Amino acid sequence: MTLRGRLTTAFLVVVLGPVLLGAIFVAVTVAAVNRDRSAERLDHATATVRTGIAATCRQLQAAADAVAVVPARDRSAVADQLIARGLATKIQMDAPAGGQDCAHPADGPVTAIAARSVTGDLTVTAGQTVDQDFLERLSAAAGARVALTGRDGGRVLTPEPGQPLPLTLTVPQNKPIFLYVVLLAVVLSVAVVAVLVARGLAHSTTRPLGELAWAAGRVADGDLNTRVPIPHPDELGRLAASFNRMTRELQAYVQALTASRDQLRGHLAILGETLSSTHDLHRILQVILRTALAATGARAGLVLLIDRPAGQLVAQCGIGLAGRWDVPDSELPQQRLPLGEGVLGGVAATGEPRRGQGELASAEPPCLSYVAVPICAPGIPEEPGDPAPFPETLGVLALYDRVGGDRFDDSDLSTLRTFAGQAGVAVHNVRLHEEAQRLSLTDPLTGLWNYRYLHESLRREVERASRFGRMLAVLVLDLDHFKDVNDTYGHAAGDAVLGEFARRIRVGLREVDVAFRQGGEEFVVLLPETDAYGGAIVAERLGAAVRDHPVSFDGLTVPISVSIGVAVYPEHGENSPQVLAAADRALYAAKNAGRDTYRLAEPADVTKSGVSPGDHGGDCDPAPAVPSGPRPPQHRRGR
Ligand code: GH3
Ligand code: MG
Ligand code: MG
Repeated sequence: MTLRGRLTTAFLVVVLGPVLLGAIFVAVTVAAVNRDRSAERLDHATATVRTGIAATCRQLQAAADAVAVVPARDRSAVADQLIARGLATKIQMDAPAGGQDCAHPADGPVTAIAARSVTGDLTVTAGQTVDQDFLERLSAAAGARVALTGRDGGRVLTPEPGQPLPLTLTVPQNKPIFLYVVLLAVVLSVAVVAVLVARGLAHSTTRPLGELAWAAGRVADGDLNTRVPIPHPDELGRLAASFNRMTRELQAYVQALTASRDQLRGHLAILGETLSSTHDLHRILQVILRTALAATGARAGLVLLIDRPAGQLVAQCGIGLAGRWDVPDSELPQQRLPLGEGVLGGVAATGEPRRGQGELASAEPPCLSYVAVPICAPGIPEEPGDPAPFPETLGVLALYDRVGGDRFDDSDLSTLRTFAGQAGVAVHNVRLHEEAQRLSLTDPLTGLWNYRYLHESLRREVERASRFGRMLAVLVLDLDHFKDVNDTYGHAAGDAVLGEFARRIRVGLREVDVAFRQGGEEFVVLLPETDAYGGAIVAERLGAAVRDHPVSFDGLTVPISVSIGVAVYPEHGENSPQVLAAADRALYAAKNAGRDTYRLAEPADVTKSGVSPGDHGGDCDPAPAVPSGPRPPQHRRGR
């Protein structure tokens, strides 16, 4: 049974039940009242009939007495007069008049009632005929039908002194058929109206529910634009309004989720592209951090990597942080935190993630809530089948203050662990790449940069010097008679000499200077922001470093010396090949000058007009711009 059917039935029961009961009550009451009224009328008729008959009896007695008391000769005249007046229908002397005696009623045929007056021997009887006319007069007086006994129904009056007639009194039954018809009509009308009203009410009540059910079905099917009308501000109206609000909020929520999913998708695409296309660690960490922020809805984040030798955490990339923690660019000075201290230091030291609320130590970024996880190197077994080594902690990935004020939960922690895993792989890969790069660009015997890296570095340094209007000194060094060293002391001794020479070069240079092994026993040194004078000083110092301290190898003392050519950008060449060629020519000049010395290159214009680049031999023998020889120049620059 539908809700509408149940509502209709309930309404009909509630309305029609009382109406039917009321109708039955009215009918029963009317019948009872009718009966009471009949009884009352019968009582009244009985009393009236008794009184009337008693009056007739007294009237007959009076007539008989009146005839008896008059002289005999007048009796007939008086009797006639009384009959004429209607006091009796028949008066007889000395003979019974017949009929029921008023005083002593007895059984017998009822034709009249009579009264006697006895005076001496005279008996006068006055009688009243009981005929239809008499009975009708009685009926009219009593307001009821009066009949001699013998009729069915009605109230029976038995003869008694003063009322000698056996009578039956009936009153006409007043049956209220019309009332019953009206009652039935009212009940039927009410029933029809009630059915119509019940159907209408049930319809108006269930229609909004039906619409709600339909709308809920559409929402369940994914149509979040569905709304239901609000016809009245009643309970159903409020329900409809709540449904609309709920659907609207659900729609907004779904839209926000979709937008955030799309945003996250975009971030993940960028992340994937970045991870596969670059070894720029700062950019990779920045993209990972941005993606982690988008995935968790955090306001700010920070990536720090461990500097093991310094025992510190170094901020690599910060987003959404204020003040000194805002690290958008890797070129900016990096913030540092001691390992093992505070939340971030603790995560880095223990490798355990942490999350919580409240202010952190003043050294750390200010926040209301935080979550921090370690960035670990992927544990790759050395041999396939070996157990994975315990992952080394490389740094910390931290997020701060979720938008909306909620604290970070377990799912945020697990999301962040995923991103930290990505960061760990990225850092590991970048370091592997850097190591591989370094190995491919360094010379295994001396540890200096190799020939391949020389040309890239020289080009970059020339370009930088050109951009900033600075000078760059290039030194080309060649050990003297090195073939003899090999021949005299052996190839191993030669290798040792090369290694030691490289070490002495490194020791004698600034941090910004770069040394290369160009090949064999030839080396190149780049001295950024250094002029010819500075280059000459370094050349002098390096020459002295080998000249004054022979190399010891296997108990032998191997004396060595070096010749050095010095050229300066832009003085001796407009570009890196020209400067290097100028330095080479200067080296040969030094060799030609007897070795164990250095020479400064010729100015560029002279070079251009006289010697083609790369021509190391020939008649070029430039004089040094600064005095050459074993002794250092007079004006040494402090280094
Ligand atoms: P100069 O004063 O004119 O430069 O004479 P030099 O003997 O140094 O010049 P040369 O170019 O004739 O000889 C270079 C020698 O350096 C030849 C080679 O045996 C030696 N040499 C080159 N590379 C290595 C190396 O890696 N190890 C060793 N032990 N010797 C090397
Ligand atoms: Mg050589
Ligand atoms: Mg040599």
